[in-house]
Amino acid sequence: MLEPILTLNIPFREPMVLYKNEFQGTGEGPIVSLVSGIHGDELNGIYLLTRLAAFLEEVVQGKKEGYTLQGTVRLVPVVNVPGVNFALRNWPFDGTDINRMFPGYDQGETTQRIADGVFQATLGSHYAFDVHSSNEQFYELPHLRTFFPDERELKLAPYLRCPYLLHRELTPLYKTQLAYLWKDSGISPYILMLGVARRIDESMVQQVFHGLIDFMVATEILAGPPLAPPPATPFFRTANTHLVLSQAAGIFRPTAVVGTEIEQEDLIGHIYNVLTGALEEEVRAPASGLLAGLRAYPMVYEKELLARIFSPHESLEKGFDIWYPEQ
Ligand SMILES: [Zn+2]
Repeated sequence: MLEPILTLNIPFREPMVLYKNEFQGTGEGPIVSLVSGIHGDELNGIYLLTRLAAFLEEVVQGKKEGYTLQGTVRLVPVVNVPGVNFALRNWPFDGTDINRMFPGYDQGETTQRIADGVFQATLGSHYAFDVHSSNEQFYELPHLRTFFPDERELKLAPYLRCPYLLHRELTPLYKTQLAYLWKDSGISPYILMLGVARRIDESMVQQVFHGLIDFMVATEILAGPPLAPPPATPFFRTANTHLVLSQAAGIFRPTAVVGTEIEQEDLIGHIYNVLTGALEEEVRAPASGLLAGLRAYPMVYEKELLARIFSPHESLEKGFDIWYPEQ
């Protein structure tokens, strides 16, 4: 059922309405909330939630054989409405990042009211997902982020079928983000990072869509066919990160493939001098492990992030946490 969660009068023409789409089951199953489109140019999450809405509509109407809804699913597919309409990450009027405005304030300015409206709409959930994408400059393998997961949260995470899980420390730096607030409010929070901004990756979305259905069966939000065990999913912390920074400036041409296991000293790519075409740097892996991210935008300055490798061995580097794409 479509329900407005917030109506904002805007300077010109009709008010802007934020909606949630809520599906209520027949039983006493748990509640899960899924939010996407906090950043208006991150489209995989919005598309994922539209697929989920269509699926749940069929379940509720009894058209999905083998599935019944026992709990409640709340979908908020678009938070930054004008941002989505104009392909912008932030709130267009004043450039505010809505995921830095939580918990928000119902008597505050526009983005504070939006943050408050979204948080209120997800209150009482047992589980919650905030879906994002990386930026356009750096391709990130899709992954699930957790904050100090308890045993149950960790056990459920592999159902999402992401190539890896990333545990991030709960620092005050994230205090104004929705997932932090969920954790603080006793809701099990997950952040899904899906692909890059401004694009839809169909196969990735389909994979996570099926993963979410399994997650809902595993948590008894949905009753469905018996589940196969989830895939074994590697779990990394920020200390497992090995960063590859450019030593030269120029044009970067990668040779390695994201999502593959690479060995220490394997070739990752080349940096060429733009004027002369001379090879400025042969970029090699500092450690063996999963190549989880690779620079997509070719022009580079010195000391820019070219690749990220997750290795079972902890890195000795310090201060690398700033190199994660923002959520
Ligand atoms: Zn985002």
